[in-house]
Order: sequence, then C-alpha cells, then structure tokens
Amino acid sequence: GLSRDELKQLVRTVPDFPSSGIQFRDITTLLAHGEGLSASVDMLAGMAADLGATKVAGIEARGFIFGTALALRLGVGFVPIRKAGKLPVECIGEDYALEYGEARVELDPSIIGSDDKVLVVDDLLATGGTALAAVRLLRRAGAEVSHALFVIDLPELGGAGALAEEGITTHALID
Ligand code: IMP
Repeated sequence: GLSRDELKQLVRTVPDFPSSGIQFRDITTLLAHGEGLSASVDMLAGMAADLGATKVAGIEARGFIFGTALALRLGVGFVPIRKAGKLPVECIGEDYALEYGEARVELDPSIIGSDDKVLVVDDLLATGGTALAAVRLLRRAGAEVSHALFVIDLPELGGAGALAEEGITTHALID
C-alpha cells in the first residue's frame, strides 16, 4: 500500500476555487488512482477497527464515497447525511454557518436506533461546522457519536478543536 505522504501527493490543489484566495484541496485525483483509493479506504478501516461502530454516516457528497467504502469494510450499514431538500420522507435538519452564508443538512431519523454507535465520515475537515451539524443530527436521532474520520484535515482552521468541544475525537489520513 501507499504511504500517507504518497496519498498526500495524489490530492490536487486548485488555486482560487470556489473564490479568489482559496486553495481548494481536490480529492478527484486521489479517487481516480486505484492504489490511492484502496490505500485510503484501508487506512480509514484501520482507524475505525476498534471503535465499535454499528453504522457509518457520510456527508453529501464526497463523504458518501469514502463512507460507503468504509461501511462495507466494517460490515455495517451506511447512513446518508444529505443536503437540504433531497430526502423523500419527513426528516430532521440542522442549519449551520459557512464562511460566507448558511447551509443545512438533513437526516431521516427513522434509520437510526438508540443502540447505534455512528462514525461520521467526510472527505475534508476545515472549521468543523459541517461535521458538527452532522453529529447534532445523529444525536437528535438517538445515536451515540464520538468519532469522526476524514481523509484530509486542514489543522489551521481548528475543526478538530471544535469537534473535541462536543466530545468528538477526530481522525484524519492527511494534514
Ligand atoms: P467545514 O464545515 O468548514 O469543516 O468545511 C468542510 C466541508 O466543506 C466538507 O463537507 C468539505 O467537503 C467542504 N470543503 C471545505 N473546504 C474544502 C476543500 O478545500 N476541498 C474540498 N472540500 C472542502
């Protein structure tokens, strides 16, 4: 398998996306690389091995890719945390602040049981706002949530600290 450094080199940095001055970390190049994709999922599975998860929740859309792969490895079910307005059933939602503006994520709480221990998965952790909204939704639905896994953490944005304040331990493959 590839090393973490080799994985890091498979992430593409796109300057000035989505707006001027932002360096967007793009995992498209990592996903398209067979060994890179497989090593990423292996490492996520390694980090999750002893956490006793009963479900994996992935955040739309890139969290669906890694989250589903991880759920298959762990032999547990997958729960989609969706952007607003996508679910066909009655759902619960959490609004959260973005750097510019607001966003909302939604969950069908009927697929969560009070005995579920859920791992949150996304491609990238920045300020932690998105992951925290996902954690709140899952907890409102009755799940125990204490760990979140990311392919990339941007440590200077403080997401791991924000998650820690809510009792969540952060795991990431690449800084
Ligand atoms: P946060 O809510 O500030 O932690 O931002 C994380 C969310 O925004 C995740 O759903 C990411 O997919 C997305 N995101 C923020 N910055 C980047 C980036 O540089 N590359 C890819 N996704 C990003």
